[in-house]
Amino acid sequence: MNEWRGITREEIPWFPAIEADKCIGCRECISICKNGVLAFNDETLKSTVVNPYNCVVECRTCAKLCPSDAISFPDEAEFSAFIKAKLSAK
Ligand code: SF4
Ligand code: SF4
Repeated sequence: MNEWRGITREEIPWFPAIEADKCIGCRECISICKNGVLAFNDETLKSTVVNPYNCVVECRTCAKLCPSDAISFPDEAEFSAFIKAKLSAK
């Protein structure tokens, strides 16, 4: 089973969210991600998240490259608190 710092990957809510209204379908995010997290939707002509748990925890590369600022990730402070709580509960 895939884990990150001893936590099952599927229990970690770290993956991109794409704001469809902002996405211009340039595919930059799909090209840069080597983990198959994102794919192009031929119907909407926008990028969509297809394999969220393939996303590398704390990576934000695609969001940094998006020309439309359409990609977001969890709030950093909230995410750190979540991980701390998970680790201390182990
Ligand atoms: S980089 Fe941004 S605008 Fe381009 S396809 Fe991805 S989400 Fe859409
Ligand atoms: S954050 Fe990194 S691993 Fe996750 S989808 Fe974007 S480029 Fe891929």
